[in-house]
Amino acid sequence: MKGISRRVGVHTSISGGIHLSVKRAHKLGCTTMQIFSHNPRSWRKRYPNAEEIELFRNLIQENNITPVFVHASYLINLSSAEKELWRKSIDMLLYETELADILGIDSVIFHPGRASGQSRQYAIKRTREALRQLCKEIRKNILIIENTAGQRGEIGSTIEEIAEIVSSLPSRCIKGICIDTAHAFASGYDLSTYEGIQLLIEEIKRLLSPLPLLVLHLNDSKASLGGRIDRHEHIGKGYIGREGFRKILSHPELSEIPLILETPKTSDEDDIKNLALVREIIKTI
Ligand SMILES: [Zn+2]
Ligand SMILES: [Zn+2]
Repeated sequence: MKGISRRVGVHTSISGGIHLSVKRAHKLGCTTMQIFSHNPRSWRKRYPNAEEIELFRNLIQENNITPVFVHASYLINLSSAEKELWRKSIDMLLYETELADILGIDSVIFHPGRASGQSRQYAIKRTREALRQLCKEIRKNILIIENTAGQRGEIGSTIEEIAEIVSSLPSRCIKGICIDTAHAFASGYDLSTYEGIQLLIEEIKRLLSPLPLLVLHLNDSKASLGGRIDRHEHIGKGYIGREGFRKILSHPELSEIPLILETPKTSDEDDIKNLALVREIIKTI
């Protein structure tokens, strides 16, 4: 019965206009969604015009798609040792929050950062400082920190590390956490088993409280357990597997968390299949 109210959606393209993402999501039957609010591989800042904003906001309301998440740009590295890149990263994440605000979106998901040639400890310190500066500028609670696979120096692959990053930040700075199931698996949390899921949930409660888990990036993993490689796979086709997702989706503490799929896609067909499988699992819980 719980499954009925469960929010399920996919990361949706904004190509051709930001409002078109809502039409795409609605067509796929999504009740929540995630977008890039601009080209995630460009530093260029562009603000949507009033018409686009209105269309986007109206379509979100009409189609009752909520919550909507923005995923921050891939270029951002809050851990960077290079002063210019570090500054630009802070500035870009701030721009992401402005854009989200304009669009009526109250969540921006970001990755903690990558240690490039520096120690993890240095990278953590750098990200913490970046967030401290950023949070002075942000007026509302909007940032959601995502766990990583720990690939190529990525920090934040364990809950312990995320706790270190967000420690001593002002309380209104970070709104909550996003767990990507593929990243968690690749970083060593065995989400194909109940024990692994339980361990992750307990760590979140023990180390991050009162930060809430706000969204799950529901992806299967092409990388093996602890492989520290970020490769998303279709639901049920990777190492977490269909039974693993049944365990994740039936966990009572995860039953209210919105689900965003970022599974591979060459066409809509892929999203349709993955969404259908997730809905089927939810229905049989
Ligand atoms: Zn992400
Ligand atoms: Zn990923």
